[in-house]
Amino acid sequence: MSQAAQQTGASSSQTSVPHTTHFIGGRWCPPGGPTFPDYNPYNGEIVYDIASGGRAEAQEAVAAAAAAFPAWAALAPIERQRLFLKAADLTDRRLPEIVRTVAVETGASAAFAAFQVRWSSNLMRQASGWAYLPCGDVLRSDMPGRFAMAVRKPLGVVAGFTPWNGAFNLAWRTAILPMAFGNTVVIKPSEEAPVSAGLLVAEILEEAGFPSGVINVVTHAPGEAGKIADVFFESPAVRCINFTGSAATARILAERAGRALKRIVLELGGFNPMLVLRDANITEAVNATVFGAFFHQGQICMNTRKVYIERPIHDEFVEKLAAKTLTLKAGDPTDPSIIIGPLINDRALRQCEERVRDAVDRGARVVTGGRANGKIFAPTILTHVPTDAICSLGTEETFGPVLVIEAVDDAEEALTRAQAIPYGLSAAIMTGNEDRGLELAQRFDTGIIHVNGATMAGEPSLPNGGVKDSGWGRSGHYSIEDFTEVRLTTLTHGSVKYPF
Ligand code: ADP
Repeated sequence: MSQAAQQTGASSSQTSVPHTTHFIGGRWCPPGGPTFPDYNPYNGEIVYDIASGGRAEAQEAVAAAAAAFPAWAALAPIERQRLFLKAADLTDRRLPEIVRTVAVETGASAAFAAFQVRWSSNLMRQASGWAYLPCGDVLRSDMPGRFAMAVRKPLGVVAGFTPWNGAFNLAWRTAILPMAFGNTVVIKPSEEAPVSAGLLVAEILEEAGFPSGVINVVTHAPGEAGKIADVFFESPAVRCINFTGSAATARILAERAGRALKRIVLELGGFNPMLVLRDANITEAVNATVFGAFFHQGQICMNTRKVYIERPIHDEFVEKLAAKTLTLKAGDPTDPSIIIGPLINDRALRQCEERVRDAVDRGARVVTGGRANGKIFAPTILTHVPTDAICSLGTEETFGPVLVIEAVDDAEEALTRAQAIPYGLSAAIMTGNEDRGLELAQRFDTGIIHVNGATMAGEPSLPNGGVKDSGWGRSGHYSIEDFTEVRLTTLTHGSVKYPF
């Protein structure tokens, strides 16, 4: 059980499941209101009983964040730095307990959950230094006697929507990037993982001594996200929407942001192709593909969805890929030896089943996997998936362990096909010729490209983010562009000659 659950409420008398509540203005709301069950995706047990918030809680949270903003924005960099470093140490200290919470709430393997914890504390250490980033530029002016400055200012309240997949580290990213530049934050966590994707962040920041109202978390029942989103869009204090999730939801939110004239940052999904050229080291390519496709059972936005492979090495690659894939151990993710855990819910399982069945009906061949076993979908490799027929596996993001292998004549053909994918998050190229790899990389229309590495390479200091249907905005210190604005400030010495 997390401390969030222990601290914030009593056990429900009927279920003896911990009760968790919202964190608003530095206080945990008293339990007693409506709640909803939060399930373990592996065995269906209820792990938490979560407070079901709505408009009132969202309004309170926005008001608390707005009240906290002036003091947080004005806090000396050294003070902000101390707080981030303390939160980083607290997070590391709680690693084993957080790994278990993330496993039972989201189905993440020990390897992925531990990665999320270390990524988050490293992000906080990076962000602690951003407090000292230059806050603008001195500019040249054509006007005699004028001294001009571009001064970076935080925006105000940033409202964050977090997803369930990289629940813990993406919740930290949602909180820390805006906070590092002086904004205050309200998080609306995914209803699939309210503890890992929000309440734990609040708990650690509270323990680290962050001022009241700098971070606020409002949870809600499935289907109720819209009520909280309404408040964010209506509130003048909310200056930016910070969304991580699907392109479908992003389209709804971006339209609303347009109408409300609010800034919106979108970190969305991807279709992440890998090109394997005939001169690639096949063992390296196989290792990068298995990790890229099947880490967190294919539920990360940067997972590899398709490999374009040059024909001369197709058969050898597929044989070795299948052999390695078949060694991946599946089961309960609380067992540290497990690599493949459950999918997040039955809807995700059904989507994998239906799309694989559809592809097979159209002529695809199953090399490994292809079916569910309980809540686990076996790591699946498909070849001969038709590219001309309408097949959802061809270009749509399928959030599960399903990988399509497509033979091509050469890299140019692969590049042409990859460029037709509507998403533009990540891509990878495996080649023995580094110059050729870099040259090809320049021609890819993605926010991220790795030569001789997997499509996923998560380092908190690096600017991850997408183009096209994968959204816009960048993480790392590049997010200063997303979470600050520049105010032109001038001072003129002496008298000025005006035209009249
Ligand atoms: P996924 O399908 O991977 O869960 P979503 O885009 O549905 O991705 O969810 C990402 C986040 O967006 C979650 O916090 C979820 O609650 C929120 N969300 C989903 N639908 C809406 C909506 N109509 N309005 C506001 N937020 C939403």
